[in-house]
Amino acid sequence: MEEVLIVGQGLAGTWLSWWLHQGGIPFKLIDRPNPNGASRRAAGLINPVTGRRIVKTWMIDELLPFARNAYREMENFLGESLMNEVAVIDLFPSVQMLQAFQHRYEQDPAYLALGGDREKYAASFRYDLGWGSIQPCLLVSVEKLLISWRAWLKRSGHLIESDFELNDLVEDSTGIRWSDIHARQIIFADGISSAQNPWFENLPFALNKGEGMLVEIKSLPDNLVYKKGMSLVPYAENIFWLGSSYEWTFENDQPSEKFRKNAESWLRQSLKLPFTILEHFAAIRPATLERRPFVGLHPHNKKIGILNGMGTKGCSLAPYFAKQLIEQITGNGNIEPLADIMRFQNILKRHPF
Ligand SMILES: Cc1cc2nc3c(=O)[nH]c(=O)nc-3n(C[C@H](O)[C@H](O)[C@H](O)COP(=O)(O)OP(=O)(O)OC[C@H]3O[C@@H](n4cnc5c(N)ncnc54)[C@H](O)[C@@H]3O)c2cc1C
Repeated sequence: MEEVLIVGQGLAGTWLSWWLHQGGIPFKLIDRPNPNGASRRAAGLINPVTGRRIVKTWMIDELLPFARNAYREMENFLGESLMNEVAVIDLFPSVQMLQAFQHRYEQDPAYLALGGDREKYAASFRYDLGWGSIQPCLLVSVEKLLISWRAWLKRSGHLIESDFELNDLVEDSTGIRWSDIHARQIIFADGISSAQNPWFENLPFALNKGEGMLVEIKSLPDNLVYKKGMSLVPYAENIFWLGSSYEWTFENDQPSEKFRKNAESWLRQSLKLPFTILEHFAAIRPATLERRPFVGLHPHNKKIGILNGMGTKGCSLAPYFAKQLIEQITGNGNIEPLADIMRFQNILKRHPF
């Protein structure tokens, strides 16, 4: 009998399975490969400041050092480089953004530095209002990490490559059964699928579409992230991830003509270097109305749990809250109340079937 059955191997399922393995707890993970899952398309950036007013990201003073250690440990285990420390060069796109940066710097300079030489990036970019930098940020090679961890899951007999069907889930007195698997608990780390799971569909999900591109740009130094409204993030040798959009209402999950035009015009207007667009993609973020994750065992059925709602911040939230969820399961700790799904105990259904 397994202790835990995980559904999904995006960032959430990857980190859950990592901590289970670290704790020596038997588990299996079911995932259907999806090259356009949110994690597979993420830029991989952990940015300690956010939004138009450059406010500190929620819990970042704890999340960033935790993530740094967790990704380093996984790097050592897998024997691959998966994370770098980087600075984001913020080429101010408007007077408002310049003023917001300066104001925030005067109030609290944490994670910010004012730009020195104004022309420092002028060989590569067009910008009139100067720049500042945001640091330290972490840049995770998410796709590489997911592929590498999946290969380990497969080798070690933990992975079931399959579509999970909720109809096939059966509860018994000791736990749950799915196909020939018997486990004490099942944890849904299945991204946007949970928004249609009768156990969790009442949670205030607010799915959000994001589009991006992979762009070849030779001779742009790839040790920095460049941001001017849109961001150019190092992805592979001479290749940058460009994005992204944030759409709360959308008709489908496909790349759109509108984003392609905007991105092309951004590249022509902001970048002075030649570029080639290699790929255009779209993915749906499992975002939430209050911008806080959904973590924990179901308030009315402790055999079922969830790690979800990572929104735009899966790289920093997943390692930290996966650990908290495992600690809850093993009776060794509690979940941060603002992330715990206990806060929705009144709207979560007792018996959805
Ligand atoms: C364009 C874009 C850019 C982003 N950039 C960043 C960034 O720079 N930094 C950051 O921190 N975050 C970023 N994000 C957000 C981040 O990607 C998400 O927060 C995170 O990926 C969510 O991970 P997840 O594991 O919850 O879901 P997912 O990545 O969606 O993983 C869910 C997994 O479950 C599987 N699954 C679902 N249903 C089933 C089923 N029935 N049976 C079997 N398997 C199933 C899916 O195939 C998938 O593998 C970005 C997102 C997008 C779209």
